Formats: sequence, C-alpha cells, structure tokens
Amino acid sequence: MTERTESRECTLPDMLMQTGTPSERNPFVSARKQLDEAAAIMQLDPATHELLRWPLRELHVTMPVKMDNGCTKIFHGFRVQYNDARGPNKGGIRFHPDETIDTVRALAAWMTWKTAVMDLPLGGGKGGVICDTKSMSNGELERLSRAYIRQVGRMLGLEKDVPAPDLYTTPQIMAWMADEYSFMQGNNEFGVITGKPLPLGGSAGRGDATARGGICCVREAAGVAGLDLSGQRAAIQGYGNVGSHAHKLAAELLGMRVVGVSDSKGGIYNPEGLDHAAVSAHKQATGSVTGFPGASAVSNEALLELDVAVLFPAALESVITGLNAENIKAKIVAELANGPTTPEADSILHGRGVMLIPDLLCNAGGVTVSYFEMVQNTYGYYWEETEVQRRLEKKMKTAFRNVIDTSRRYSVHNRLGAYIVGAGRVADAMKLRGWV
Ligand code: GLU
Repeated sequence: MTERTESRECTLPDMLMQTGTPSERNPFVSARKQLDEAAAIMQLDPATHELLRWPLRELHVTMPVKMDNGCTKIFHGFRVQYNDARGPNKGGIRFHPDETIDTVRALAAWMTWKTAVMDLPLGGGKGGVICDTKSMSNGELERLSRAYIRQVGRMLGLEKDVPAPDLYTTPQIMAWMADEYSFMQGNNEFGVITGKPLPLGGSAGRGDATARGGICCVREAAGVAGLDLSGQRAAIQGYGNVGSHAHKLAAELLGMRVVGVSDSKGGIYNPEGLDHAAVSAHKQATGSVTGFPGASAVSNEALLELDVAVLFPAALESVITGLNAENIKAKIVAELANGPTTPEADSILHGRGVMLIPDLLCNAGGVTVSYFEMVQNTYGYYWEETEVQRRLEKKMKTAFRNVIDTSRRYSVHNRLGAYIVGAGRVADAMKLRGWV
C-alpha cells in the first residue's frame, strides 16, 4: 500500500536482509498460510476454501515504452483480480523493481479480505509493473503509465475493477491513467481510478486516509489495552505518503513522541522526539530522512526493535519475521504496510502479548476513502474533508470492534480474527451467488 510521494521506501539490500526464513520469502505462501488457518477455524467446506486460495483472473502484460534517449525499453506488468464475489475488484497499482506475480497475488488476496473486513461492496485486486521509478523521467513514467492502461484497460471498469495508487504510484500517475482509459472508452470515465488529484474527481481526505485510519485503530487498541499513549514513544518504518502522515497524526491526534523514523537509505533516532515538519522538510530537500540534524543514525532493522509503545511498519512486506519477532519491544504493532509480518512472527508476537493491528484493518483507511471517491464520482457531488473524515472514523471503529470481538470469540490473534471476518464474508457472498 504505502503510496509514494517522492522517494523509495526500501532499497534492495534492505529487502534481502529482512526476508526471514525461506518459507517466509514468498508473500503469497504467507497469504495462503493465513487463509488456511482461518479456513480450518471456520470449517469452510473444501470447495469454498480451494476457491479462496486462487485468484479468479490475472493478466500478464508486456509494454514497449519509448525512453528519452530514443531507445525502446520493454517493461512487464500484471493485474490480478483475486475475487469479485462482493463487488468490483479494488486495489492499487505498484511500480517496483522487485515486483513479482506472487507478490501481486498476495496483495490482491489481502485487498479482497480488506474490503470485506471494512464491509465495502467491493472485491480485491492489485496491479504491478516491474520498474524503478527513481531512474525514470516524468515523461517516461507517463508513457509507461499509459502503456499499462492500454494493456490492462480491457479488464478495468466501474463494475469490473477499479485501481488506485500504491507503492511508488502517485495522484499524477492516476490522472494519466484515468485520461488514457477515458480516451479508450471515448468518454470521460474518471471513476474507474481512485486516488486522483482533486480537480479530476479525487476525494478530499484521500491523501492522509491510510495513516488516519491506522491512527484511529491505535487509539481504539490503546483503549482496549488500557494504555495511555500521550507522551509515549513511537517509531515508523517507511517515510512515503503513509509513514510521513502517520508521523504527523501520531503527534497531533495521539500526543505521541515519534522517536525513530526510517526510509530506504536508513533511519534516524532522537529519544526526545522528532518534529514532523522539520523531518519532512529535510526529506524534501535531501531525498531522505538520514542525516537529519540532532538525530543519531539507526538501521531499518534496529528501528523495528526500538523501545517504543507503538511501532508502525509502513514500508514493505515481510519485515517482521521469525528471526526478529522476539526482539520487538512495542506493545502495539500497527501495520500500515501490507503484509509486514509473516505468520511465524504472528505466533511469536501473539505469544508475547503484543497487540497487533493487522494490515487488513489498520491500513484500510486508504481503500475506504477510495470507495468514498467512487461514490462521489457516481453522484457527481463532493463532500467536505471533515465529512470524509467523520465517515472514515465511523467505518474504522465499526470494523475494529468487529475484528476484536471475533478474535476474542474464537480465542485467536487479531490477524486470524480479521481473516475470519473478511474471508468469511467473501465465502458467504460466493454461497449466495451459487458459486459453491
Ligand atoms: N493501495 C491501497 C491499499 O493497499 C489502497 C487501495 C485502493 O484505494 O484501492 O489498500
């Protein structure tokens, strides 16, 4: 998820270091393991379980793009429609050099359970393009974005599949994509993409929606755990759109002291707390949070193990694994990234009494406001930001309660509780439609 502003979230060496035990290296293996556990608890019949283990459709595309130096470069990408039993597929498009079809499958599965946890009338999908946006000009990025839509456009549509931003894709990229799709259709169809800039039918409040939804969950979790967060320490891994907004809102709405933040180049630490405006300005000016005056350097790995009340993983998948879960000191882990914790780590954290707010819930503010954007596009009438925030808060609180209550009812950890709610609702829809 972690929508990009300007910088990369994690370098390749970071990824190689973080990948845990061999079975934890493939996110789709993790996603299926999580589903299998939930299916056993729910006693899903074998056909329903098997259908939920597979994407319903996927498209692999190859795109020639004219580069600024006159050469044509060939790019590869995917769009996975995991399950649309509850409504059109919904989910972002990632631009990342290490993208794989299995990562996109896992992310599409997580979108399916996520929209169901939030009780949105949507299914789940995800797109990915293998590219390094940092080495591309704006023009190259625009041509690649348009080429991707020309290839996957036939799969998209208001009632079929509605993409959005994700890792290293921006509102500007969504604007190019909505424009290309509109030309293919012969009329403006901006609603087919969410996370658009405001003048093209974007929603107020979409920019910080993922972080705001996560902060709302942390507040609810602290209430359940009987923790007073004001003045307590927090750390954030990842400083793209989501991580940076989380820094601002953790201070503003929870009164927390954010003592550590990191990006692809490394992290910074100051036990007195880091000022959001100053760190953002430093990142804007230098391209990274590293080297921020008055803070000491900390690695991405060490940042996860800082002595804090709340840890926000807001970068890539599989960073909390069987290898480091014992060392996490946070009382609450709020997953703003998709899939940052592997199943091995889930069991360890649960055993140690860490309150984990799973991605399916914690980062669902983004897709929830994307859904509000779809509704407003259909209406042709736009809400004030305060109205969007009020509706988001209501949705987040209801979903949080539902997940916590379900986890307690089944005596399972919160991720399994979220799966039971989400996958359970998808299974119910498939039954009603007569698929199983
Ligand atoms: N990319 C975000 C996510 O992973 C948002 C998806 C959307 O808005 O459709 O949840």
